[in-house]
Amino acid sequence: MTGMLTIAGLGPGDAALITPEVAAALADATDVVGYAPYVARVAAREGLVRHASDNRQELQRAAEAMRLAAEGRRVVVVSSGDPGVFAMASAVFEALESSPQWQGLVIRVLPGVTAMLAAAARAGAPLGIALYNPRSASRPEGFARALEVLNEAGCGDRITIFAHAVTTADERIDALPLRDARPDMADMRTLVIVGNSTTRRAGRWIYAPRRAS
Ligand code: SAH
Repeated sequence: MTGMLTIAGLGPGDAALITPEVAAALADATDVVGYAPYVARVAAREGLVRHASDNRQELQRAAEAMRLAAEGRRVVVVSSGDPGVFAMASAVFEALESSPQWQGLVIRVLPGVTAMLAAAARAGAPLGIALYNPRSASRPEGFARALEVLNEAGCGDRITIFAHAVTTADERIDALPLRDARPDMADMRTLVIVGNSTTRRAGRWIYAPRRAS
């Protein structure tokens, strides 16, 4: 087997946040595999085949990538943000575990800027808890329940940041006390950061003082 399978993160949206390492892997790739909106972020060029798939086909997508790599192709599996954060790296290793014929493949994981870091940078330096995938079609109740639990635990004063589509043209950042947060403020392109007990506002910025970190 001479092919190489690279699992890479494309960052939160802005091309400037694609690391040079990932850009080099993409420039060298023969095939890019991933969920359609992420594959669309890789520019078409001669010699590159883009394999776009549906959101729910992670394991099939991972197996397809390994099959192509085993044929000797240079395959990059793309995720948004970082590939290890609710993304394709786990799916590839899960597929690999059940596929002895691909154990010999050369695999590497290239990190990316995860949504939590991009969202925190937009707000300032809030630290705290980050909630990914706050509202999915298959688990609509989880986020409402999370807000309830945090309110009951006495976190109602905590500054809560709704960071929508960070670093894209649709970016919107809202911040309010947790007790005023409503589940429908989040959608699938939103990352929610709940500040810690010292997180505060300083003008347009939100930050956690050093002594609390
Ligand atoms: N691997 C990705 C996360 C994939 S899970 C990463 O490391 O960022 C998808 C969730 O990530 C979304 O529901 C949302 O909570 C968050 N997310 C991804 N990109 C985002 C962006 N540009 N702005 C806000 N949230 C984002």
